[in-house]
Amino acid sequence: MTDLHPFIAGLPKAELHVHHVGSASPRIVAELAARHPDSKVPTDPEALADYFSFTDFAHFIEVYLSVVDLIRTPEDVRLLTFEVARDMARQNIRYAELTVTPFSSTRRGIDENAFMAAIEDARKAAEAELGVVLRWCFDIPGEAGLEAAEETARLAVDLRPDGLVSFGLGGPEIGVPRPQFKPYFDRAIAAGLHSVPHAGETTGPQTIWDALNDLGAERIGHGTSATQDPTLLAHLAEHRIPLEVCPTSNLATRAVRDLDEHPVKEMVAAGVLVTINSDDPPMFGSDLNNEYAVAARLLQLDERGLADLAKNAVEASFLDPAGKARIVAEIDAYTATWPAR
Ligand SMILES: [Zn+2]
Repeated sequence: MTDLHPFIAGLPKAELHVHHVGSASPRIVAELAARHPDSKVPTDPEALADYFSFTDFAHFIEVYLSVVDLIRTPEDVRLLTFEVARDMARQNIRYAELTVTPFSSTRRGIDENAFMAAIEDARKAAEAELGVVLRWCFDIPGEAGLEAAEETARLAVDLRPDGLVSFGLGGPEIGVPRPQFKPYFDRAIAAGLHSVPHAGETTGPQTIWDALNDLGAERIGHGTSATQDPTLLAHLAEHRIPLEVCPTSNLATRAVRDLDEHPVKEMVAAGVLVTINSDDPPMFGSDLNNEYAVAARLLQLDERGLADLAKNAVEASFLDPAGKARIVAEIDAYTATWPAR
């Protein structure tokens, strides 16, 4: 059995399902906590490592919200965004569609124009200094209801920063039916944004149908329960609707009981375009490289299979054709130089 980790580490990759605040690594959280000494978040790395070892999902939410509380000024937003890109560059992530929840920040009093300027400034710096191309997905925090949906649609359509490519919906699915968000997705789609709601992470395949039929989903966040409905799987495969699969996240949130029981094998077998992603990587003790290693094990992939997986993410992305061709060429060049077994 070859150790695939060195190959994965150097492989140029794209990531399509990763959250802004959820990407705050202990290093970034320590920096933010040092700026706001009144917060209860520890600033030394060792205490932070303890703080980040989650006991259960409720604890994860608690830590997530305490990180949200550290993002108080536009400069915090800029720092978080640029430093997330730095963590991506270290993993050879060349392109990422970062899911940003502007409602969490504007509701907390950060000026909306300053917020947009901060993420755009970080995006340009990340591309120029780190070689990481960032694009935004603005998502509705589903648990915050229609008020948040209205605000997120307004920010996306009226303020639309240059890097914004898509409109999403996150948060819990149970008790948060997808169809109620149709008017907001209609507005975003009419403004030219792509639709990428989370669906079928913690609920059944009907949620995925709702995302397709009511929200015009072009990609599905998670879609874990798609394998419970063969008609849906065939539909996703036929229409080339990609799934954003996040294996370790699914384990951490108990969407799957055991990684070995993850339905990614059935998704691939059904011909669905599967992409591998990290969701909230430091909070789940993972990163994209680790998710590729998990996928290699579950799907029994070699280097060529991993390169194809990386190309799936490029194909499923909202990059323009020239941008896609550039990353695919990088993947091919890298794979060609890799010693054959
Ligand atoms: Zn997510």
